[in-house]
Amino acid sequence: MPEWKEGMPTHENIIFNCFGGLSNTGIVAALASMEAVKEVGLDKVAIGCLAGLPVGVPPVHGKTKAAKKIITVDGCPSECSRKVVEEAGFKPTKSFVLARDIGMKKKALHEDIGKSLKPLMEYISQEDVEKAKNLIVDALKEA
Ligand code: SF4
Repeated sequence: MPEWKEGMPTHENIIFNCFGGLSNTGIVAALASMEAVKEVGLDKVAIGCLAGLPVGVPPVHGKTKAAKKIITVDGCPSECSRKVVEEAGFKPTKSFVLARDIGMKKKALHEDIGKSLKPLMEYISQEDVEKAKNLIVDALKEA
């Protein structure tokens, strides 16, 4: 299969989300982004390879350049994905920070090690995932 090149079909929009697995916020950013893609469809949006931007993977840069909207979704105010996207030379159309935009409280998972550590998904609120997904979907639908 030939590598994607500029001018070939691609997703209309692109999301770059953080995926910090060390905290609830980063995990929700990833899950919500996937739910948004499932809801609106892959022709409309896909999740970009955040790690491919700083190392200069050509199809990742090309598909980002071709996207009508670039949406960044970060869990906490460190805003890792927005910063990576901007440092790669792109300007996000919209940037979400879940701790700010849906009022998530960051919980670092290491805090419970040796005390009351729970299974991973018990740290994740489906309500937070739904709220964050709705923000992303609404941003994609905005004219
Ligand atoms: S934005 Fe916050 S939650 Fe997301 S990867 Fe960076 S430090 Fe982790």
